[in-house]
Amino acid sequence: MEIKKGVAVSPGISIAKCLVIDAEDYRIPRRSIPPSQRLIETQRIRNAFRDATAELTGLEAGRGGIEERSIKDIFAVHLRFLHDRSLKKKITDLVQSESVTAEFAVSSTLRGIASHFTKEVKDRYISERAADIYDIEHRLLRHLLGKKRQALHDLTDEVVIVARELSPTLTAGFNKEYVKGFATDAGGRTSHTAIVARSLGIPAVVALEDFTESVSGGETVIIDGNRGIAIVDPDDATIQQYLEYAVEFVEMEHRLDAIREKPAITRDGVRVTLLGNIEFPDEAGLVLERGGEGIGLYRTEFLYLNRETEPTEEEHYEAYAKTVSVFKHRPVVIRTVDLGADKYTQSKRFVREPNPFLGLRSIRFCLQNLTMFKTQLHAILRASVLGEVQIMFPLITNLQELMQAKMILGDVMEDLDEKSIPYNRDIGVGIMVETPSAALTGALLARDVDFFSIGTNDLTQYTLAVDRGNELVSTLYSSVDPAVLRLIRTVIQDAHKVHIDVSICGEMASEPEHIMLLLGLGIRKMSLASPMIPEIKQIIRSVTIESCNKITRKVLGMNSERQISTYLRDAARKILPEAF
Ligand code: PEP
Ligand code: MG
Repeated sequence: MEIKKGVAVSPGISIAKCLVIDAEDYRIPRRSIPPSQRLIETQRIRNAFRDATAELTGLEAGRGGIEERSIKDIFAVHLRFLHDRSLKKKITDLVQSESVTAEFAVSSTLRGIASHFTKEVKDRYISERAADIYDIEHRLLRHLLGKKRQALHDLTDEVVIVARELSPTLTAGFNKEYVKGFATDAGGRTSHTAIVARSLGIPAVVALEDFTESVSGGETVIIDGNRGIAIVDPDDATIQQYLEYAVEFVEMEHRLDAIREKPAITRDGVRVTLLGNIEFPDEAGLVLERGGEGIGLYRTEFLYLNRETEPTEEEHYEAYAKTVSVFKHRPVVIRTVDLGADKYTQSKRFVREPNPFLGLRSIRFCLQNLTMFKTQLHAILRASVLGEVQIMFPLITNLQELMQAKMILGDVMEDLDEKSIPYNRDIGVGIMVETPSAALTGALLARDVDFFSIGTNDLTQYTLAVDRGNELVSTLYSSVDPAVLRLIRTVIQDAHKVHIDVSICGEMASEPEHIMLLLGLGIRKMSLASPMIPEIKQIIRSVTIESCNKITRKVLGMNSERQISTYLRDAARKILPEAF
């Protein structure tokens, strides 16, 4: 039994056999397999050689011209390696003699050869062939691992996924019936993968450092998404203890479900609006079930992930119409696509930027891809007659960007007018405040929008210069850092001055220990992942605004993040002990 501590990102307990998804960019750990699986792994190796050869032959044939000779030569060298029977035999023999996975056999054999070339061979030309060997290793692993990722779609047993890291796209495609939890080496609490896990209600722990090295496929793993723990090969007593704990957790959830119909109102009578964050239209029903009063953040970029072509206007429209049909007379805030950074379309997945979070992301991406942007705006406007639709622009950094986005929206409205297509001319238009520049110029931006929604996930990342998905700096990432809190306070004050709505839609709104602080700062509307709505409502119903104001005054007088977070945790524990 081995216990690892990481960061809890999605609550709940799961116990199941694990499915390990290795990554070709990282060292493949040695994993044992039962002898009965040796034949399957051997066949996988043969298939990978076959597919890699076919791929290279195709690439080689596609090249012509003398100037491309050197590329053709490289392909020819790679093909010679792939045709080398003794190489393939060496790899399959390793599987037979040592009972290891195909991935490990491929990786360790080829890396052994490459290191021999670099260390032992004096001839410079031959020693440079090591780079080719790494290339071949990479190509073979891509074929092996790609097939395994494909297998994720055909699961027939319950599993816990273990991986170095998971993309939001892959996670969004998980079949909840079989994927019972996941654990990753990398990641942070507000990474989009974690957000998707919470929305799907799959228990998850991230930032486990080298957890993938401790497991072999098929071993039993416990995921404790409440305490951020992952356990490999647990003993019987631990399993028993966790089975009981899982029952207690479900009972607590049922108790909280009982307050579904009750309003989110403080003990001294202040009403708070709780909305849901969604990535897919199907989740709107879950928000309603959990007592959400509308959608405060619809992350529409998920329409683009997992597919080779862009969604058509009709596909956009259908997704929005479906969401609005759940909340006919309640707000549905549709955020225009936030592509880039860690969420890229399939066609752009190989075009990586050096600093993607500071790059062509979000509204910047839309303003450079006007056809795509207009397609989405057309669909949103058409859906606006079906209910209380509002539009929200993400990652606004200055007034000019906002005016540009609004101008495009105006163009689309004119276009609809010309075609006599109905839409709501007075549709609410707001922005996400998630960059320090937007927060600091809130007074300028507030005059041109109907609402602000504070995206604390990005606001924290950009204010503290800490990547929200990087486990190496996860202890530096905190939404209650004094710098972040000062920006949040400023934004709320600027919104109140001109009487526009201001809400929070970052993960901070789903963290029980931060609710009293947000109320004390003046927040009366929050949007969060549906599974967290009952717990947050319970907290709101247990406090008075007077006590929240007092807590907030104290916090704003503190000068360190540690002092603030300890103080807030203690205060929240007194209100809802079972949540901690
Ligand atoms: C945020 O940044 O706080 C936010 C809600 O947007 P996302 O998490 O999708 O970046
Ligand atoms: Mg954001």
